[in-house]
Parts: sequence; C-alpha cells; structure tokens
Amino acid sequence: MTTTSNLNIAATTKILNGGPLPTVIAGPCSAESEEQMLQTARELKKDHRVSIFRAGIWKPRTRPGMFEGVGTVGLEWLQTVKQETGLQTAAEVANTQHVEEALKYGVDILWVGARTTVNPFSVQEIADALQGVDVPVMVKNPVNPDMQLWLGALERLNRAGITDLALIHRGFSTPGSKPYRNHPKWHTIQEIRGLAPGIPLLCDPSHISGRRDLLETVSQQALHLGADGLMIETHTNPDVALSDAAQQVTPAGLDKLLTALDLETERVAQPEQLQDLRSLIDKLDNELLNVLFLRADVSKRIGEYKRANALDIYQAGRWRQLLENRLSVAAGMGLEEDFVKAIFDSIHSFSLGLQNEVFATPPQQKSASQKL
Ligand code: PEP
Ligand code: MN
Repeated sequence: MTTTSNLNIAATTKILNGGPLPTVIAGPCSAESEEQMLQTARELKKDHRVSIFRAGIWKPRTRPGMFEGVGTVGLEWLQTVKQETGLQTAAEVANTQHVEEALKYGVDILWVGARTTVNPFSVQEIADALQGVDVPVMVKNPVNPDMQLWLGALERLNRAGITDLALIHRGFSTPGSKPYRNHPKWHTIQEIRGLAPGIPLLCDPSHISGRRDLLETVSQQALHLGADGLMIETHTNPDVALSDAAQQVTPAGLDKLLTALDLETERVAQPEQLQDLRSLIDKLDNELLNVLFLRADVSKRIGEYKRANALDIYQAGRWRQLLENRLSVAAGMGLEEDFVKAIFDSIHSFSLGLQNEVFATPPQQKSASQKL
C-alpha cells in the first residue's frame, strides 16, 4: 500500500485569506437561533483577522439525547449572515442530504467532522455527492490518530474532483488526554504534512482544549508549528450555549486571544535581528511557563490519587527512572547534564511540595489559595 499521496491541489485556495497572517475561522459550535448567529457574526465582522464564519447545523453527538442541531433552518440564518456581513460561511456535512442542502443555501466552505472522517463509507458518500461540484472542503482529523484514514478522506474527495482542500487538526480522543479534551499529539501535524504536502493545515484549539483557559497555549503551539490558521468556537453568550459551552469564547474574548497571540509577529518574524530573536525567546519562555502550569496541575491530581490510595508522596524508584529518562533524552539533544538535572531537581521538589499541600488538605475542603 502506498502511504504518501499525489493529490491534485487547486492553484489558489478560498480557505486561506491569501495574506501573510494566519486565517481565522470563528463562529458558534452550533447554530441556535437567528439572533445568536447574527449577533455573533456582526461582532466578528468588526475583527479584521476573522475571514470565515462557522456554525454547526447538524451536530454529531457522541451520545443521543444531546442537542443535535437545528437542521435546515440554520442554513437560512447562515445565508443571512453571509448576505449581511460578507463573511464566508462554513458548515459541517456528514451525508448526502447535508451536502445537497448546504450547497442549496450557498454555504461557501464545507467541512467533514472528526466522527465522519473516521468512516470511509461516510466520506465516500460525501465525495459522491460532491462529484462535479466546485466547493472547498476542510477535513478534520479522525477521532483516533490514524494518519492514513485522514489522508484517505482527502483522497476520496480529491478523486471526486475537489481540489480546494484543507486539513483541520482538532486533537485525538485517547485515554488520559487530560488536561486536554482531545490530545493534540503535536507530532501528527508534521506527519500529515509529510503525507499530504501542500495542503493547508488549520488548528481547532477549541476541540483540543475543551476549556477556554487552554485556548491560548494550544493556539500558540499550533502557530509555532506552522499552522496556516485557527478555527475557534465563538458565541455571544458561551455559558448558555447548547453545545460545547465550556470551550467557547465571546467575540470580545476572541479579540483578546488573537491579540495575545500576536499573529502578525508570528507570521512575519524573520529571526535575524536581535529584536526578532528576543521576541522568539519571549514566546518560548511563555510556552515553558505554560508547560510548568500544566505539569503542576497534573502533580496535584497525582497527589489526590496518592492520598486516596494511601501511597507515599515520594516514590524513589519512579523519581530515579524519570530522571534517568529525562537526562538521556536531553543528552540526545545535546543539552548539558548538570543544567538539565538542576532543572528537574527543582521541578521535582516543587511537585512534592504541591502534593504535600494536597495531603494536608482534607478531601472535601478547598485550600486557602482556592478560596481566594
Ligand atoms: C465541531 O466543529 O463543532 C465539531 C463537532 O467538531 P469535531 O468534529 O472536531 O468534534
Ligand atoms: Mn463544537
């Protein structure tokens, strides 16, 4: 079986904004009402960094009985958004009927969701419905980290004549993906790029994070890895959203996030000048701090587990193994042993301190710092 692909790619894409800055797709997880759609879109229109408005019309829910989308009427609202704001529109399709209706209502860009990419029968059905149609299609990664399945979906669409294609990295459903909702498995970006060269790749930090406070660090990482754009779920009132409430941001929140990401510098930085190099260091340090923050969170959860299972906080064997492993990885990267050891000693003693704090706190009560 061949593993790489000869995809026939369009010379220009309607998915990317064509400029030096990453493309931003924003809009609610689900279309809920005309008012919600228009209010969100009007706000987003004011942000020059946003070029595409997204909304889920039919929602693929893991369990039945949750909000399954408004259906066709949502396409009418999406059409109104397009007419009123001039933003391009995008919606998810999962079968022939979805494709036909979305095209009938003039949706500009279609996407295949993670639960659909995973199934070649469904992808083929969509490809058949798109035979002879000129419309851009974005393909989210399958829920499991199977690059061939992701590539296969591109190929099926490409064989049906779709040449304006893009990939959306939205993370993978794996056990132990905490603190993420879907683990990013960042190396898959490089892998799929190798398999499908020339296809734009966007990141969907919303479905990777599952919670608002992780959006910045996830988006930043994706941009550092060269993502061509971001798809970020945006809702006028996220807390009452009918789906994915915890991960959506308001248009104002999106503005803040995009500003913090400093998209301009991200794309145009030529790391030749001292100032550029320093800005690169600033970003990397910021990443380091984010990783330390995430690690501290996990340490506390380990502390809770140890307390519940009456285990000792300090586990000599585990610490020896961990340090050996980190030192050997670091040696492979050419990092000096004393330097790396000092860092890990410090990280470890901080982690033990956090776990001691957990042990000192009765299970139901919050610590003094949490009460503040
Ligand atoms: C969505 O974009 O709202 C969605 C359902 O995403 P995914 O297919 O990545 O789960
Ligand atoms: Mn969603």
